[in-house]
Amino acid sequence: MRKKFPMMNITDLYQEIILDHSKSPRNFGVLDQYTCTAEGNNPLCGDSLTVYVNVENNVISDVSYRARGCAISIASASIMSKMIKGKTIEEVNILFDKFHRLCTGQEVEEDEDTETLQVLSGVSKFPTRVKCATMSWHAMKEAIHAEEIPLESHNIPNIPNNKKG
Ligand code: ZN
Repeated sequence: MRKKFPMMNITDLYQEIILDHSKSPRNFGVLDQYTCTAEGNNPLCGDSLTVYVNVENNVISDVSYRARGCAISIASASIMSKMIKGKTIEEVNILFDKFHRLCTGQEVEEDEDTETLQVLSGVSKFPTRVKCATMSWHAMKEAIHAEEIPLESHNIPNIPNNKKG
């Protein structure tokens, strides 16, 4: 007879991470100083959130949110806030696309970020929960959209001129 080892399966692990984030959400609250803010609502589930982002020189220097709703919506906001802090707007846009692909069951290139995002990708099997997971991300994107600097005005670092003589 084959014996099954009592192993925690991956779904249980993800559930545990989601519960942990929803019970003690990281970066929760209102920032003293922020450059942009936006709201998200998911009436289907009763989730709502306001996100506060401080953008400095095209980098997310700080982010926070106030939210109420289901465990997935809170955990998603918490994970999002941890992931985008310190990233440039361009990097956040790439991350957003990656997350959106994962939540809609599309193929995504494997990397460190994907591993973290995978925790929330279980919602792709439950279309009614997709909005719970993506609400905070859409609000964050809406907030930073106003901060996006047109390409032509990006600071181009000075290339040192090594030519001598
Ligand atoms: Zn929800």
